[in-house]
Amino acid sequence: MNSKLHTQTKVVRTQIPRTEAGEHSAPLYLTSSFLFESAEEMADAFADRNDHLIYSRFDNPNFTEFTDKICAMEGAEAGHATASGMAAVFSTFAALCKAGDHILSCRSIFGSTHTVFTKILPKWNIETSYVDGPDVKSWSDSVKPNTKMLYIETPTNPGLEIIDLQLVGELCAKHNLILVVDNCFASPYLQQPAKFGADLIIHSATKFIDGQGRTVGGAVVGRADLIKEIRTFCRSTGPALSPFNAWLLSKSMETLAVRMDRHCASALALAEKLEANSQIEKVIYPFLSSHPGYATAKKQMSQGGALVAFIIKGGIDAGRKFLNNLKLSTLTANLGDSRTIVSHPASTTHAKLSEQERLSVGILPGMIRVSVGLEHIEDIIVDIEQALEFSMKRG
Ligand SMILES: *Cc1c(COP(=O)(O)O)cnc(C)c1O
Repeated sequence: MNSKLHTQTKVVRTQIPRTEAGEHSAPLYLTSSFLFESAEEMADAFADRNDHLIYSRFDNPNFTEFTDKICAMEGAEAGHATASGMAAVFSTFAALCKAGDHILSCRSIFGSTHTVFTKILPKWNIETSYVDGPDVKSWSDSVKPNTKMLYIETPTNPGLEIIDLQLVGELCAKHNLILVVDNCFASPYLQQPAKFGADLIIHSATKFIDGQGRTVGGAVVGRADLIKEIRTFCRSTGPALSPFNAWLLSKSMETLAVRMDRHCASALALAEKLEANSQIEKVIYPFLSSHPGYATAKKQMSQGGALVAFIIKGGIDAGRKFLNNLKLSTLTANLGDSRTIVSHPASTTHAKLSEQERLSVGILPGMIRVSVGLEHIEDIIVDIEQALEFSMKRG
């Protein structure tokens, strides 16, 4: 494709070849395996002497179209699609780390990734330690001789802390660490960690990439040599995406930019409106000048994202009451949907942690997280404001 085209055009126009039928929309390859013309061609395929497709656990044209679109947006060399975001996370560790290696990560990390670090990788003697907070300059003290990888998320969940990707990239270059960024909260449209030296970028496509709460999927993109190792791991162990989900997600990549523009405009409007609300102690949104990571967010993200967090006065009880009085926004364990989703981490996703552990990852009792959807912004604001009124009432 013409390399002078804008990224958005490349994402929309990156296509796999059409069949004889000449369909305009991408064909869906619902097939478990692919035909060979001869014994020789088949033998060559298995010996890697040609790139003929073999089997859909290994590869499928629909995966290719999906990952090529993410690579175009992320500015990445290569990519691999997986059955879920967690399949991408685990496959990355399993393919690149061996017994005795150490992974450094930030404490504020997606819950299942934390479980992989603390309950699963230790079985193979791969240890993880956490750094606290966004002060990257202090992290070099935690790098050990056996540290292989630095794994981060930014913005973090649910506290929306911002980690300076440029400083992290420099730290990894200095210590020769593989930098892996879970870019799910920003989406490939708002932030491209490869520009700052990230070696691999992980996406839960379940969130903004699908954007409509229909499916689960994932991808890892980045340095071709590392993707090759991840592919080899996935080919033999089987965390493959279904061709149908890949087809769906590839279509979704074509509308990601326009959806994110609306998500972000509405999220900023909501954040600004809530900052003036006396029932709220604090609003956390990366593109509010009151956010401690505002300058860094402006440097590495094109917009502030679709997630807004705020601290409601009255702690856990007020948080529960707030949730129970929403009329439009939904309570569900997801984010990045066309519908506004609200959660109260202290009583749900992070209820198993002790109060102390919650505080260490920035979760106050009255913290509410909103994934701002595509409804009209005025209706979202009205819904949240009326539930806030209720949360203040006694009884
Ligand atoms: C949801 C999520 C994941 C896991 O993705 P799944 O598709 O649910 O497996 C990983 N990281 C972040 C930041 C997420 O929000």
